[in-house]
Amino acid sequence: MTKGSLFIISGPSGTGKGTVCKELARHDNIYLSVSATTRDKRVGEEEGVTYFYITKEEFSDMINQGMMLEYAKYSGNYYGTPKRQVEKMLDEGKNVILEIEAQGALKVKEKMPEAVMIFIVPPSIKELKSRLSKRGRESAEEIEKRINTAKWEFSQCPKYNYVLVNDDLETCVKDTLEIIKATNERQELIERLLKEI
Ligand code: 5GP
Repeated sequence: MTKGSLFIISGPSGTGKGTVCKELARHDNIYLSVSATTRDKRVGEEEGVTYFYITKEEFSDMINQGMMLEYAKYSGNYYGTPKRQVEKMLDEGKNVILEIEAQGALKVKEKMPEAVMIFIVPPSIKELKSRLSKRGRESAEEIEKRINTAKWEFSQCPKYNYVLVNDDLETCVKDTLEIIKATNERQELIERLLKEI
């Protein structure tokens, strides 16, 4: 069976990448990886669906046991991708999506250079700030922190394969699906040609 492809989706907090990823995960051939985090669970989030909520001790145990594909500290909390499920889904031929921030994304790219990196940006910074305050999840101080982190994240854009503007959700999802389809077709073509040699 053809191995699945790995996609990394990053972008500043408030760009709506989470919503884009949720839409993508509705497709049978797409698996959205569930990360582990030390941050508190927010209203509406679900254990094992949104994240695995673990303590700092459990997080460092997972790192020491080599269970994390990557991890990073973001806004005072740790976030990491458990390796096992990602590998299993890739072996089953699924398109695996990691919705992770840029430090972790670059670590994955080092380990798995075939990963396709997609960076989602907001149409403007004014819109980004407005989305962050409208969703009402973070305090004003936390929003400020996230905007500051966005400055560094934007500087990492050139390292990504694609940059998509999330102005309209449906268009952004459609564009991402096209990237996934084109990647799959390229993979199949190369495998077919290799078999013919
Ligand atoms: P939030 O607290 O808003 O859920 O997530 C904060 C940031 O952490 C987002 O940019 C999100 O993409 C990123 N993130 C979520 N899971 C992971 C992960 O497993 N690894 C890394 N490096 N970043 C993650």
